[in-house]
Amino acid sequence: MSDQKSSEVYQVLSNIQKFFMQETDLFGNVIYPSESGKGKKTSEPSGAEYPNEPWTSAGTLDNLNAQICECQKCPLGATRTKFVFGVGNPHADIVLIGEAPGADEDAQGEPFVGRAGQLLNKILEAIHFKREEVFICNILKCRPPNNRDPQPEEVEQCEPYLWKQLEIIKPKIILCLGRISAQTLLKTTDSLTKLRERVHDYRGIPLMVTFHPAALLRNPNWKRPTWEDVQKLRKMYDEMKAQ
Ligand code: SF4
Repeated sequence: MSDQKSSEVYQVLSNIQKFFMQETDLFGNVIYPSESGKGKKTSEPSGAEYPNEPWTSAGTLDNLNAQICECQKCPLGATRTKFVFGVGNPHADIVLIGEAPGADEDAQGEPFVGRAGQLLNKILEAIHFKREEVFICNILKCRPPNNRDPQPEEVEQCEPYLWKQLEIIKPKIILCLGRISAQTLLKTTDSLTKLRERVHDYRGIPLMVTFHPAALLRNPNWKRPTWEDVQKLRKMYDEMKAQ
């Protein structure tokens, strides 16, 4: 095969790969998602009560962190480099939630660092928030190997920590970053496009959904809809503050 032919084939394969990555960002592994969100991937909330463990009585984020940072409740505890509790204002009005730490986060023990983190900081600045004004965390506190999606058993073990964080922080609004985070918290398989359409309820807190900053790095065309999402968030926040 000539060099030119090889280059053309490579370009076609590269475009196909990019297309499927973008489809996955929006819809997950279901290329043609159902209209109604039927066929849920994760189980409904099991009805399991809030675990009766010492950390449930923590009154501050620091205290909670100290009590859970050695957690080994799921296999990710054994493979993590650093536990990634979350960072920011312990009394934040806005909490941003991603799915799980990546390689940079696992190494540094802080969520949303690296290029995606820098982009997130810019998104926040665009709506006049500083990173330290909000609270940023993930559903899982430890990195899944090879950045795979969180497994239902891992979410079941780790999500109560998030509930406790929210109970302490008492935010006015949650912003879910990315499809996986939103689908996991809302227990749905609806596409990101559909989830972005409205404000949801998560344990009594209004929850909005937008793209994950890493997805924006892959597809800059999604910056505009993200801008629209965060503008809506800012407007809702300002209206809440004015009441
Ligand atoms: S992911 Fe969550 S449940 Fe699993 S070990 Fe880490 S902190 Fe514990």
